[in-house]
This record gives sequence, C-alpha cells and structure tokens, in this order.
Amino acid sequence: MTESKEQNDGGSGNTNSGKADTPSRNWITILFYIYLHIFGLVGLYVLLAKIKWITLWYFLALVIFSYTGLTAGAHRLYAHQTFTAASQLRFFLVLAHTMAGVGPVYDWVLWHRLHHKYHNTDEDPFDHRKGFLYSHVFSNFQSTSSNVQLKNIDMRDVGSDRIVWVQQKFYWILFIVLTFLLPIYVSVEYCGESFVNSVLVIGATRVMITTHIAWLVNSALLIWGLKKGDRFPVSDNNSVFFVTQSYWPNYHYVIPWDWRNDEFGPYERGFSTFMIKMWYEMGLIEKMMTTTTKDIREILEKIAVSKVPIKEAFEQLKKKSEEDACRQKLVYYP
Ligand SMILES: [Zn+2]
Repeated sequence: MTESKEQNDGGSGNTNSGKADTPSRNWITILFYIYLHIFGLVGLYVLLAKIKWITLWYFLALVIFSYTGLTAGAHRLYAHQTFTAASQLRFFLVLAHTMAGVGPVYDWVLWHRLHHKYHNTDEDPFDHRKGFLYSHVFSNFQSTSSNVQLKNIDMRDVGSDRIVWVQQKFYWILFIVLTFLLPIYVSVEYCGESFVNSVLVIGATRVMITTHIAWLVNSALLIWGLKKGDRFPVSDNNSVFFVTQSYWPNYHYVIPWDWRNDEFGPYERGFSTFMIKMWYEMGLIEKMMTTTTKDIREILEKIAVSKVPIKEAFEQLKKKSEEDACRQKLVYYP
C-alpha cells in the first residue's frame, strides 16, 4: 500500500539533473505498516498454532498467487518488459498484484525504474550503500511528491496499459475488496475459519508477507548478491537456512531485460520462471527477451580491448538481443 501519485507521462528529457530533495515521509503509509506488522505478527502465531489445514493451504495459495503478480508481473513484465503478454495474462498478473496489497503496479514500476536508473548513486531511492534495513524497509516510506527525479522516468509504456490504468484509477476500492474483504470472506465462508483468525492470518499476515516480497525485489541484492571482493562460488559462512549468494542478482543490474533471471538468485530456475515458460506454452506470451553467454562474452571482450564505454556496450548487446528476438519471433530455450 503506497500513496497514489500524479500521472507521469514519461519523456526521457532530463529536466532535473540535480540531487533529489531530502525525501519526506508518508506518515499514513508508515502508520499502516506499523499496524500491519503488529496484527501480522499476531496472525503468524495464529497461523502456526490455531488455524485449520485448509486455511493454511488457502493462505499459501494466495501468497504464491501474489508472488507471481509481484515478480513475473510488476517486475519482469512491467518494469523491465522482459516479455510481452496477452491481455488475459496481463489481467491475471495485475489481479495477483492487487491482492498483494502493495500499491498500484504503476507506482511500483516507477520507483523500481528510478532505482535501476540511479543505482548506487545519491538519487537511488533504495540506496544499497545505506544498508539492508534502509533499502528494505525505510526507503519504502518516501513520498513521491518530494522526489524530483521521478519525473525523469519514462513510463509511457506502462501508462498506456489499460489494465494498469484501471487498477490505478480504482486502486483504493480494489485494495479494500480484493486485498482484504474477498480473501477474508472466502476463508470464513468456504474454509470454515473463524472471522478473527481469518482477519489476522488471511488479512494481516498474508499482506505482511507479500509486502516483504515486494520490498525484497529492491533489496535482494544485499542478501543474495555478491559483495565487493567476493568471488564465485561464494563462501556461505554467514548464510542462514537457504540463503546462499549468487551473481545473478548482480547480473540483473547489468542486464535487467533478461526474462530468465530470477529476482532472488537463480537463473533459468525459480517459480516465476517456470510460470513464464508455461504461459509461453499456453500461447499467452509472444516475445521473450534474453541473451546468450557467447554474446555477453563477446561484449565483455569488446569492453576489455577497446575503449567502448560499458553502458554503450550493453546497449549494443540489448539491441542485438532485440534483433534476435525479432528474427526468431522470440528467443526461447525450452
Ligand atoms: Zn529490476
């Protein structure tokens, strides 16, 4: 849940080149998240100790559904255009994203593009140099009106998507009905769960988790990415549970338009990647953007032996990949 903002009709002109103002905080959003976490943590206890099995399965299904909307939808489809999707699939993904309760797709994409454009500079809203807590939590409370750099982000493609437009236009009513009322009603009516348990688990805990998934897309590099001086394979002495580092989050910041790159570490694997493959098989995807090891190696050699700037070299790589995608109708490796 974030504040709605004025329409950014894009334009790549650099009307503002100075530093962003000191970001002001959106206090309504902060209060919302404080309450969400208080109720969400209570719900987490209820989830582990009290609810019915069917409610647990329902809870997991909703989280996975929203996860797909956040990663395959808002991130890979809308923020980076790694593939093109039929209207039915875009509707499905925007619906899944709406149920995650993290604000309109348009807003999330706007901030994420700003993050990529100014990565590791003072203008980066999720500035990784300030640490994980800042990047993952506090950076999400910035007010859009105080950030002049947002006007420099080209959003014409997302702004012209009718499904995204409808979601943004009617966001608050959709947020109340699809994020909270409907999922809670289904839990009470069809899972036979008590109203209080449903509010706590299906309402608060679920949205708390989907919120952190959405935030993690901007901060995952700090958990799963390589640190300065790391070599691959990385020592996992500091890793906990399944947390192991990989170079793919770093790869994403160099080549963000590769559909096969998972948000949280793996490449060519992961649930969203599997889903995108499945949608392709179902005929819901026309074009997918990716590249090959050979092409990347050639570009890196070119950078090493000539004076081609890195940015320009990767633009050439993207252009070549687009041409390949066009020539083959799509680039796809089953
Ligand atoms: Zn990205």
